[in-house]
Amino acid sequence: PETISIGDLANRMAERAVDVIKFLMKQGQLLKATDVIDADMAQLIAEEMGHTVRRVAESDVEEGLFDTRESEGELVTRPPVVTIMGHVDHGKTSLLDAIRKTSVVSGEAGGITQHIGAYQVEQNGQKITFIDTPGHAAFTAMRSRGAKSTDIVILVVAADDGVMPQTIEAINHARAAGVPVIVAINKIDKPSADPTRVRTELLQHEVFVESMGGETLDVEVSAKTGQNLDRLLETILLQAEVLDLKADPNRTADGVVIEAKLDKGRGPVATVLVQRGTLRPGDIVVAGSEWGRVRALLNDRGIAMTDAAPSMPVEVLGFQGAPAAGDRFAVVENEARAREIADYRARQKREKAVARQTTARGSLAEMMN
Ligand code: GDP
Ligand code: MG
Repeated sequence: PETISIGDLANRMAERAVDVIKFLMKQGQLLKATDVIDADMAQLIAEEMGHTVRRVAESDVEEGLFDTRESEGELVTRPPVVTIMGHVDHGKTSLLDAIRKTSVVSGEAGGITQHIGAYQVEQNGQKITFIDTPGHAAFTAMRSRGAKSTDIVILVVAADDGVMPQTIEAINHARAAGVPVIVAINKIDKPSADPTRVRTELLQHEVFVESMGGETLDVEVSAKTGQNLDRLLETILLQAEVLDLKADPNRTADGVVIEAKLDKGRGPVATVLVQRGTLRPGDIVVAGSEWGRVRALLNDRGIAMTDAAPSMPVEVLGFQGAPAAGDRFAVVENEARAREIADYRARQKREKAVARQTTARGSLAEMMN
């Protein structure tokens, strides 16, 4: 059951807590600001104090949003979404750059490469989406918010350095998220490269590559010379085929925020990954405690799009404020609904922050005792 403290209730009514307490005293009830009452009781008090009550339960607000039970229409194959992880200096950035340079989605010449946090490439007419924010932090941030943003993890291991602490960290992240790993043994152009050693070291962390009798796909690459990059992309497509990735493009869109910022000229800009449905200009979106009407959708070349299908990363202009990386986004039916959800979440966020502060103060007080 929902509950609220007298203090919070006073806040919501824009009354002073003492006035609520005095009011209750007159009714013969002795309560403190920190005392917690249930929603029915709160409604009664509010109405008696002359306030109009509109109860918004979490279930009301979130209903229909991100509802995986919503019946899907025809499911269509979608591109895989890939995140590159690995130890520092093993070549994550170099690999992302090299792949992007060699395999830009065709038919979009003229666009200037924009770093929007994700991009799409094409291999043999099939698309692959790369999340372009290497580093485990982004991946963890999204996961901690329950957003599954990645279908495949590319684990980059430098052939001249082998398995290192962050390699192991990446293996653990991927495993915890239940995401399959493809090992990219990088820097094979170096004379000191020893790919066999990498495979053997991976065994110790229960990553069994094919040549060692396991099922994990691995490719020897060089981000520097470009060697085998096409093979890496083909391997990703092979893994994607096994995963049988599908989504319904004909429903209201939802997905996840990859990154967001406040741009001086353009206002709040969010890069989102569409996961289901098709996002279009004019759609009303909510992400975390922010909402907006989509003014424009831009792809990773800065080109305005009329729609963004599943697995497509796009920059969204039109948010009222910048949402946070890892926030889920969804299209809702109208502005009123968007406002309601965003307000509700903003309030929850504030309450959580206050609760944290109170706990911190409480423990500080305990320490001083
Ligand atoms: P990150 O920290 O994982 O993003 O690694 P970077 O992409 O920044 O690469 C670290 C260093 O390794 C840079 O000096 C790169 O030029 C170099 N490097 C990356 N890939 C290769 C490669 O395939 N061969 C060689 N020889 N050097 C590479
Ligand atoms: Mg880097």
